[in-house]
Amino acid sequence: MCGYYTHGGIFYEEKDIALIILDVMMPKMDGWQVCREIRKKSNCPIIMITAKGETFDKVLGLELGAEGVDFAKTWIGPFGTIFMNMIKMIIVPLVFSSLVIGVCSLGDIKKIGRIGGKTMAYYLGTTAFAIVLGIFLGTVLEPGAGVNMPGEGVKAAAKAAPPIMQVIIDIFPTNAMEAMLKANMLQIIVFSLFMGIGITAVGDRAKTLYNVFDGLAEVSYKIVGFIMNVAPIGVFGLITPVVAANGPAVLLPLLKVVIAVYLGCFLHAVIVYGGLLKFVGKISPVKFFKAILPAQVLSFTSCSSGGTLPVSMQCIQKLGVSKDISSFVLPLGATINMDGTAVYQGVCALFIAQIYGVDLTTGQYLTIVLTGTLASIGTAGVPGAGFIMLTMILTAIGLPLEGSALIAGIDRILDMPRTCVNVTGDATVAYLVDKSEKSNIEEPLY
Ligand code: ASP
Repeated sequence: MCGYYTHGGIFYEEKDIALIILDVMMPKMDGWQVCREIRKKSNCPIIMITAKGETFDKVLGLELGAEGVDFAKTWIGPFGTIFMNMIKMIIVPLVFSSLVIGVCSLGDIKKIGRIGGKTMAYYLGTTAFAIVLGIFLGTVLEPGAGVNMPGEGVKAAAKAAPPIMQVIIDIFPTNAMEAMLKANMLQIIVFSLFMGIGITAVGDRAKTLYNVFDGLAEVSYKIVGFIMNVAPIGVFGLITPVVAANGPAVLLPLLKVVIAVYLGCFLHAVIVYGGLLKFVGKISPVKFFKAILPAQVLSFTSCSSGGTLPVSMQCIQKLGVSKDISSFVLPLGATINMDGTAVYQGVCALFIAQIYGVDLTTGQYLTIVLTGTLASIGTAGVPGAGFIMLTMILTAIGLPLEGSALIAGIDRILDMPRTCVNVTGDATVAYLVDKSEKSNIEEPLY
């Protein structure tokens, strides 16, 4: 590595990377000019570090003055826009197909009757609690407080609440295709519910249609996977112009979001699952959590409840839960029961409302709970699915989707605890349902 003085600055150059250090003693330093000089010699990546007490935004954009901000907006921002467009592109087919499939899987309730009813009551009840917990933490910890997300067209003032009867009327579409064209989430959900129930009721003759939705859901998730592969570039494109124009303060609340989601997941597992296991399941929660630890570790690292399913089955059967029950309750849970995701959605919806300075109305809170609970049915047990469903909630309550871009950058970190809670919830419900079916559950094998 060798050092040079240039225009009052120092830069170090190695074969692979150039490091520019701006010093307090060099007030006239022009970091961008140094960059250009390095560029003449080599194409290596350049890291610029400032010791001048300058803010990150200056290094990123303002060394060229206003021109830097313009550059970020004109040339970097579009990558973010393209990323968001791709996400918006997939929301409607994804939500529609996965909800239909989710509802169809409830068709088993008819066959399994009582077990299905109990399972659903646990699943929906705990999910609703989870999303309320998320909203509560988002309100108390205020991760987005004091941060204003600037930009034209994003002043998403809370919509004046329409009369409650109108809200109810409006969730029933007069034209299902129009609901999809306009991406009206509540109407799409209602239509999906009818479609799923219809397919289940028709049975065999609708098998082809079921397969079409199943295929569409799979393909949509694949596309989500492709889109999430370029998330780092998209997020860079979305965040850089904002930071260049407004300073790094806009990034700090993300730490609070992480804390809120982890805390929410922890509290949900301890209070809800711990309480249910102790008082309803009559088993020590510590013993239970120890027994399913392999599934928890795998879900935390893989971020996929679907992928963790075989391990969850194994763990829960070792605890004495019958094969019949675990093979119904766990796969159903991996498809429709997402309590960790619900906590995350509650926190993130509040965070985004806060950064845009939107005061949510009671109706909007109820919409978050309702769409969040339904979204959990449509969230597949694959990495990143909850993030896409978050955009559905934002659309339902009229918040700008662009806000979710900040979340996209840290979504993997948030996916880990929420998937772990999703899996823990499925296992807990399997244990409770089994316990209620046979009052004398077999002794655990270890
Ligand atoms: N990754 C989660 C799961 O597999 C779903 C989500 O993204 O929230 O359960």
